[in-house]
Amino acid sequence: MLEKFKLLASAERESCIAIRRHLHAHPELSFQEVETASYIYNMLVSFGLDEVSMIGDTGVTGIIGGKEEGKAILLRSDMDALPIQEYSSEIYSSQNQGVMHACGHDAHMAMLLIAAKILMGLKNELQGTVRVLFQPAEERIPGGAVKMIACGILKNPTISSIIAQHVIPDLLAGKIGIKTGKFMASSDEFILIVRGKGGHAAMPETLIDPVLIAGHIIVALQQLVSRNANPKIPTILSIGKIIGMGTANVIPDEVTLEGTLRTVDNEWREIVLQRLQKLVTFLAESMGGTCVVNLKRGYPCLQNDYKLTTRIKEFISEYVGAENVIDADIWMAADDFAYYSNLVPSTYYLLGTQSQDKEITTRLHTPTFDLDENSLEIGAGLMAWLTYRELIT
Ligand SMILES: [Zn+2]
Ligand SMILES: [Zn+2]
Repeated sequence: MLEKFKLLASAERESCIAIRRHLHAHPELSFQEVETASYIYNMLVSFGLDEVSMIGDTGVTGIIGGKEEGKAILLRSDMDALPIQEYSSEIYSSQNQGVMHACGHDAHMAMLLIAAKILMGLKNELQGTVRVLFQPAEERIPGGAVKMIACGILKNPTISSIIAQHVIPDLLAGKIGIKTGKFMASSDEFILIVRGKGGHAAMPETLIDPVLIAGHIIVALQQLVSRNANPKIPTILSIGKIIGMGTANVIPDEVTLEGTLRTVDNEWREIVLQRLQKLVTFLAESMGGTCVVNLKRGYPCLQNDYKLTTRIKEFISEYVGAENVIDADIWMAADDFAYYSNLVPSTYYLLGTQSQDKEITTRLHTPTFDLDENSLEIGAGLMAWLTYRELIT
């Protein structure tokens, strides 16, 4: 069977590249994936999937081999592009000004489409059901996953496990990175509005200085990480924006701070968010001012189910060879796949796309991002293989 999957993937190599190039040339932003969705919809219909339908505005889903018995596996790809102007001379570079598939979601869609086509061809040999999901808006909070879940993507059939892959330019094409347990970070943003009483900088006795309060807050927040966080749980708290509209000799009434909090443990995430709010409010009050906290909750932490991921790792080894399977580290990026992973046993692994020879090395979310298209055939065939193997296990 393994050879069969490899042959089928190899036969689809050119069409996978063509699909990826089409999608790459026509990127759409989060929650606006209208053309992308209709392209995918038509393709799934042409492959003969059952129950092909739109879900939550621009999501697309379909069923392969709907059977009463056996497991039901959900395969998920994201769909959206980023507000980045592409810097490339390739024929397939973005035709949409200021919008670019700089996170490889074009490749994810192409590979899932081809995986669906391969699985359709082997429909009678599948011991269970496969649902494919093309999910919009991964790149923008609140993300598309919440809506997919609300629309019932995990029911009818009841999904027993979920698999997704993400391209990664840190690994060479042909390599796969995978990790059990905590894998990706939660990502929350906060805006702190520190208020005092402004005035002449030479008359401190008449002021409540919000600049000084903001300074104390910045230092105290770092101590939340260094003195409260378990050193074994990565935690990042960064402040990237400070606005205080005074001048050299004028203290402003107000200072705004904006920052982000990332960690990889959902329980600790809640604790640290509470402590943050308490700390900044009390600190500002103790200095005579106030601090209003505006919290923008982002995605939770992504957990790779231990048992499922251990099995998937074995199946990956069967397909690419154990020497090409890399133990991935915790990745401090965030993905709304995390929502699914907190509800159903899930696995999210990384597909290497780097090529030193072709000088394809730039990072995700950059204007020069590209990928070694040799990785597409591997990613498409692999996803189909993992699904088949998990269904018979
Ligand atoms: Zn991204
Ligand atoms: Zn991405």
